[in-house]
Amino acid sequence: ASVSLGEHEGAASAAEHVYEHEVKAMLREAGVPVPRGFVVRDLDFGPAAELSEPLVLKAFGPGLVHKSDAGAVALGLTARELPAAARAMTAKVPATIAGFLVEEQADAGVELIVGLVRDPAFGPVLLTGLGGVWAEALRDTALRLCPISEQDARDMLGSLRGAALLDGHRGGPPVDVDAVVKLLMAAGGPGGLWERLELGEFELNPVIAGPSGVVAVDARHLPG
Ligand code: ADP
Ligand code: MG
Repeated sequence: ASVSLGEHEGAASAAEHVYEHEVKAMLREAGVPVPRGFVVRDLDFGPAAELSEPLVLKAFGPGLVHKSDAGAVALGLTARELPAAARAMTAKVPATIAGFLVEEQADAGVELIVGLVRDPAFGPVLLTGLGGVWAEALRDTALRLCPISEQDARDMLGSLRGAALLDGHRGGPPVDVDAVVKLLMAAGGPGGLWERLELGEFELNPVIAGPSGVVAVDARHLPG
């Protein structure tokens, strides 16, 4: 990768930058399911043998925010393909690469967004709605003040215009709504991730919900 001196370079902003795998470690600690994975900085992909394929490879670095746009996400890989995929990514990504995150690829499902923001008047707020490519177009979201109750979590999901998607993705089996509720509680419920909002805001997008569980496959932290 070529070195780009973008706005994210420099000591001050580098100190504020929290990488995806660091955000995911916070999520895991708070009880939010994230894919199993590991970080490499030296191109030793040996630990991939412990993971179930297909695998996802993501590059991280101080200037890499929208990873797919930069060519920094590769899906559907086998463990054997990782070194070549990492080399190809290094050649293609127009930013400094500090390392790679390798993780298990979640099965397709309903993509949700889960956010934790601090409202200047009301304080910590949990947001959820349809995520992935639909998030921007549909703006189908529900909001509650933290801490939320389990009933709040169910009401939030039920209030979405796209709530019917949870009954089955493209004719498939219904989403495990209890697992989604559990994730929302881990984020916005008593003792949840929201208590770490002093660090900044969280955006989990997408959270992939399927018939046998839910997992946050991307997570961003925006300094407060
Ligand atoms: P970006 O920085 O571009 O938002 P993401 O980490 O969200 O990068 O990856 C881009 C897309 O790749 C996601 O929206 C999701 O559809 C898919 N993806 C990423 N990680 C995984 C994963 N572990 N399992 C399944 N799909 C994934
Ligand atoms: Mg994303």
